[in-house]
Amino acid sequence: MKSPTELTEAFRANGLKVTPQRQLLFRLMHGNTMHPTADALFSEASVQMPGISLRTVYQTLTDLASMGELRLIDVGAGAVRFDPNVDDHHHVVCQACGDVRDVYVAGSHELRIDGLNGFSVDSTSILFHGSCARCA
Ligand SMILES: [Zn+2]
Ligand SMILES: [Zn+2]
Repeated sequence: MKSPTELTEAFRANGLKVTPQRQLLFRLMHGNTMHPTADALFSEASVQMPGISLRTVYQTLTDLASMGELRLIDVGAGAVRFDPNVDDHHHVVCQACGDVRDVYVAGSHELRIDGLNGFSVDSTSILFHGSCARCA
């Protein structure tokens, strides 16, 4: 994900409005390794800017995702998580506390897959389930 300053320019270049609320969300998501849900980000943003709406949070996250600045990830625990790391990576999820971390997997492009029958694969996401160091 680009820096908050670059995002401000990119939003304007795309004809999107840049408000202080949106700029706060840029700052909160930049370098964020927590993989927050929209609700979690809303709670965090509300502390710094009471009155920010959940709708603004959703809209900003959706805009960032459609610009390719955020990845949406589904760890099977309900709400979608948002990830500013758009590098090629995978995830580990703790079954006890729900913590999601980035992991890098060597050879994920060289997996032997049976049964594709002409299906063309664009991307691969690998999700490891287990217990984090705190919960183990
Ligand atoms: Zn845990
Ligand atoms: Zn990630």
